[in-house]
Amino acid sequence: MAQPESSRIGIIGGGIVGLSTARALADRGHRVVLVEKEDGWARHQTGHNSGVIHSGLYYRPGSLKARFATEAAQTLPELCAELGVTARRTGKLVVATRPDELPRMRALAERGRANGVPVREITPGEAREREPHLVCVGALLVDSTGVADFAGLARAFAAELTARGATLRLGETVTGLLETDRGVMLQTTRGEIAVDHVINCSGLYSDRLLPDDERRRLRIVPFRGEYWTLRRPELVNGLVYPVPDPDLPFLGIHLTRGFDGHVHVGPNAVLALAREGYRRRDLAPRELADTLRFPGFWRLARRHLRYGIAETTRSLVPPAFLAGVRRMLPEVAPGDLVRSPAGVRAQLVLRDGTPSDDFVIISRPRITHVVNAPSPAATASVQIGRHLAGLVAGRA
Ligand SMILES: Cc1cc2nc3c(=O)[nH]c(=O)nc-3n(C[C@H](O)[C@H](O)[C@H](O)COP(=O)(O)OP(=O)(O)OC[C@H]3O[C@@H](n4cnc5c(N)ncnc54)[C@H](O)[C@@H]3O)c2cc1C
Repeated sequence: MAQPESSRIGIIGGGIVGLSTARALADRGHRVVLVEKEDGWARHQTGHNSGVIHSGLYYRPGSLKARFATEAAQTLPELCAELGVTARRTGKLVVATRPDELPRMRALAERGRANGVPVREITPGEAREREPHLVCVGALLVDSTGVADFAGLARAFAAELTARGATLRLGETVTGLLETDRGVMLQTTRGEIAVDHVINCSGLYSDRLLPDDERRRLRIVPFRGEYWTLRRPELVNGLVYPVPDPDLPFLGIHLTRGFDGHVHVGPNAVLALAREGYRRRDLAPRELADTLRFPGFWRLARRHLRYGIAETTRSLVPPAFLAGVRRMLPEVAPGDLVRSPAGVRAQLVLRDGTPSDDFVIISRPRITHVVNAPSPAATASVQIGRHLAGLVAGRA
């Protein structure tokens, strides 16, 4: 149902996607009420990621990820500058460390070109001019990649919204959605909020508010991504990524000189035993049981058993992790890596075990659910917000 301009729209989630969507709706003249369960903004995925402005290189041509990230890589650094948020266009290398990775590396370059991404193959010697400590047999250079303080950007969006009179409510959890003749009632830990339309941007919990029939088809599976800080940051100048496995939704352990100048190594991808399980010992029995009851999880696990075992080994056995890093950066020694805070990805998995490879939005007349907004959703948050605002207005 098309929403008249100046409808009252409820948004669940104060990560970068919810805040950016609120901003796009306010631009269209809607009244916005945003509800976030934490006492501050960007406390989950938005505040625990690699901070990379992705170029659009990896994604299926024509997908929302490809379209939105390619556009965002061109525009986000300037928006950050306007809002006083740290961001830089740094460029990045994708490196093959074994000859058998070269065909996949070249296929990736083709995909990038199909998406309109400025990507070119360079020689190992040229790669070493940028990254003198690197070892590789081939490399791609992507100029439009950068780094940004996504949590800072989310906070800047919140400050803008407050200045424009939007209602932002922290420390309040949405527990249910009740459709009425006139709109939707958001049921929260503090009472009820009547709105015309709801957009659910609750990240790791975005499947929780779906009707049961939808929920049977899909589930958010939380994958922890662990990071290490490199004690010798002088070994890495910019961003260095491996050639990813095209069957997996993760990019592989990369070396990232972030917006703050620190060099992070990671993230890996291991099953988290709680949706907000940032530490290995974090366990939420009901959440884990919910994952284990879902047939799609077992199908995914069977299909990627070897990868899962290897990632878990690298997580538990530091020398195994180090060996992976040393394929790109042989000078890294055991004492050079210090564990740093992890992030947890909200990955949508379908009942047949397929991890969704695009942003997924379930749009109902009065409720829109963003059920898959993993990487590069921080990069593409402005484009996702505009897209959602367009959907709500019936103009997408
Ligand atoms: C390890 C890792 C590395 C990544 N690297 C990158 C990268 O380099 N570049 C990039 O572009 N993207 C990256 N991403 C992805 C990016 O961080 C996410 O796509 C993006 O932050 C998603 O934003 P969001 O607002 O949807 O989710 P979130 O930031 O998780 O926000 C959801 C919010 O909803 C709130 N919430 C949940 N349930 C409720 C409820 N019932 N009521 C009220 N509030 C609720 C939560 O508290 C949370 O604040 C990475 C992610 C991870 C985990």
